[in-house]
Amino acid sequence: MTAREDAKVLVIAALAERAPGERRVALVPEVVEKLVAQGFEVLLEAGAGDGALFSDDVYLRAGAKVGPLDEVLERADVILAVRRPTAAVLARLRTGQVLIGLLDGRAKGAGRLDLDDAAGRGVRLLSLDLLPRTLPRAQTMDALSSQASVAGYRAAIVAADAFARYFPMMITAAGTARPATVLVLGAGVAGLQAIGTARRLGAQVTGYDVRAAARDEVTSMGAAFLTTSSVSGEGGGGYARALTEDEAVAQRAELDAAIRRFDIVITTAQVPGGIPPVLVTAATVAGMKPGSVLVDLASGPLGGNVAGSVPDETVVTPGGVSVIGAGNLPSAMATGASSAYSRNAAALLTAIVTDGEITLDPADELVAAVWIRAEGASGDE
Ligand code: NAD
Repeated sequence: MTAREDAKVLVIAALAERAPGERRVALVPEVVEKLVAQGFEVLLEAGAGDGALFSDDVYLRAGAKVGPLDEVLERADVILAVRRPTAAVLARLRTGQVLIGLLDGRAKGAGRLDLDDAAGRGVRLLSLDLLPRTLPRAQTMDALSSQASVAGYRAAIVAADAFARYFPMMITAAGTARPATVLVLGAGVAGLQAIGTARRLGAQVTGYDVRAAARDEVTSMGAAFLTTSSVSGEGGGGYARALTEDEAVAQRAELDAAIRRFDIVITTAQVPGGIPPVLVTAATVAGMKPGSVLVDLASGPLGGNVAGSVPDETVVTPGGVSVIGAGNLPSAMATGASSAYSRNAAALLTAIVTDGEITLDPADELVAAVWIRAEGASGDE
């Protein structure tokens, strides 16, 4: 799409991320070049790319302008962000401005007051986490998948790094080392990527999920599937549902015995908009062998899949088990994660611009799904 010669040139901006520890950036220089070639003006908040190793100079060379937050908020027609901006920044957005990001659009109650306030003032909030991911034309915009893929890959690397033995089988003059055994709980996008990476590192890998469809996906990657009593955990749209308390208790009991047999457990189980299920109890962690490693991708402010995991920290238990709270691994691989994210965000951006003008058609199922309205009326709500 090209901005019309006679129309005002749209200003596309990217904010510096403000969440603690967040190193990604919503626009990378390669995507800036493409947007500039399409006739947009691009404006970066100063220092926005520092964490992902893109300096302001690199953006200037790519054709962007760089300025302070005040200028970005004043001039931008569309603002791209990775995470939801702070309440203070959201409060300064103007009527008609478009904000695209992983805004946590499924948040409820107090967790969405700042979003509701901005939406109520006519700020157009498009949340990439509400994308209808199975729509073919949404594939290039699927930031949840691109970031989950990075997280899964990185989880296997983090596990290998923390493990004090080899991942592959090693036959050497000094004897034979058996391969590490890896269990991946939750076989969605991140889980499958963790399985593939751990296998490439030479480990013996097993996968597990509550969705029946995951079995074929796990075994087709050459991993074993951990079979438990059949719980059908399918929810809508390919996602898992939250298990009932009875189902969850039974699941944890069955997993307990299995988990103790593994050297490494990577957990990726999420329920959209919900609290992550605890799959590994404190008793299970205590029963694991010294030197075992748990990497919890669901670790965050709402909890995690592993009892006792602390976001962004490694806890070593008295029994010598490392529990790694790894809820934001994409940030640890910020350059690659930002490149993928930037392409996803730009794909949504170009889909809502026609002839240099922003058109948000609520009758379009993709737009309707990602657009956060006041009163929380968006997506599947
Ligand atoms: P997710 O991040 O929501 O959850 C990760 C995994 O954890 C899922 O596989 C889920 O089934 C599993 N899980 C949840 N609760 C569990 C529990 N109690 N015990 C064990 N496992 C549990 O998932 P995701 O990676 O976003 O993928 C969700 C679905 O969307 C998958 O079916 C995936 O194939 C599908 N998907 C489709 C497309 C597409 O069609 N283009 C793109 C992305 C994802």
